[in-house]
Amino acid sequence: MKAIRVQEFGGPDVLQLEDVPDLTPGAGQVVVRVRAIGVNPVDTYIRSGLYPMKPSLPYTPGMDAAGIVESTGEGVKQVAAGDGVYVAGTISGAYAQQALCLATQVHRLPSHVTFEQGAAIGVPYATAYRALFHRAEARPGDLVLVHGATGGVGIAAVQIARAAGMTIIATGGTEKGRTSVGQQGAHHVLDHHAPNYLDQLQVLSGGNGVDVILEMLANVNLGKDLGVLAKHGRVVVIGSRGPVEINPRETMSRDASILGMTLLNTSEQDQASIHAALVAGLENGSLRPIVGKELPLADAARAHEIVLQPGAFGKIVLIP
Ligand code: NAP
Repeated sequence: MKAIRVQEFGGPDVLQLEDVPDLTPGAGQVVVRVRAIGVNPVDTYIRSGLYPMKPSLPYTPGMDAAGIVESTGEGVKQVAAGDGVYVAGTISGAYAQQALCLATQVHRLPSHVTFEQGAAIGVPYATAYRALFHRAEARPGDLVLVHGATGGVGIAAVQIARAAGMTIIATGGTEKGRTSVGQQGAHHVLDHHAPNYLDQLQVLSGGNGVDVILEMLANVNLGKDLGVLAKHGRVVVIGSRGPVEINPRETMSRDASILGMTLLNTSEQDQASIHAALVAGLENGSLRPIVGKELPLADAARAHEIVLQPGAFGKIVLIP
């Protein structure tokens, strides 16, 4: 089968399509015939060699995919050959025609959800769900700012929060992205490049501020976020690409919390619970992953360039 292999850490051009042996499942494992692969920003950080988590070389990148179960190892009861599934994490890497997974990493894909949409679920939807419910402990009725709502995590957060009865203020950097975020359920949409957008936000919150902020670019926004939080407000730092200066006093008067998170810290029990909720949301139609761009697997390097560019619009998906 064909797979993207990384022989050394570096720029996007280290992503090379190669022939590798077919995979066979061991006990408790599943081999999935991959039909679509989700590209996440973290794939680029790992590839560069600058991320704390360093796979041993050579490796196949990628955590998210969707496809059909090809074979199962001893003891696997959750899925059977022929089932349509999405994959949230793999043993062998997702940028390939086959993926070897633990049975717990494979989840049933409802028949109305396409493989391309399935590839957009794993990291983005699990991150949004964990940030909202496990870290911020958001509740129906909360006013939530999704600060950076046009990409994979942001769209997931808007759909999840909307289905749970929260009021959502979302931001995007382009007209196209903002329109899409409104269509996905945000009650109000602001432009995070406009000079006065946080004043508009304060008007929308009636001057009280927002209960929860899901922050996609904390190095730019964290200082400003603290000034628009309500009393007892929580900011969850999901993405950050550098340092930032904050005024801690802004947290004191509000009893506010700044909560970091990485999906990799999710316990097995929480992962099972999160994916049970996501599958239910896919089944009832409240979760509808948006695919913005499809590229062939051989163009993985191009996908790694695009995913870091401004002007996000849903997910970038590779087709093997
Ligand atoms: P993505 O699809 O590339 O989307 C990036 C988002 O950031 C877009 O909505 C983009 O909006 C927005 N953005 C750009 N400039 C912004 C600004 N000044 N203020 C607010 N938002 C801004 O990436 P993603 O998959 O959604 O991931 C988002 C971030 O979270 C990435 O940094 C990623 O590495 C991180 N992440 C962290 C975890 C974790 O476990 N902590 C898990 C998944 C992702 P426009 O392009 O419309 O301007």
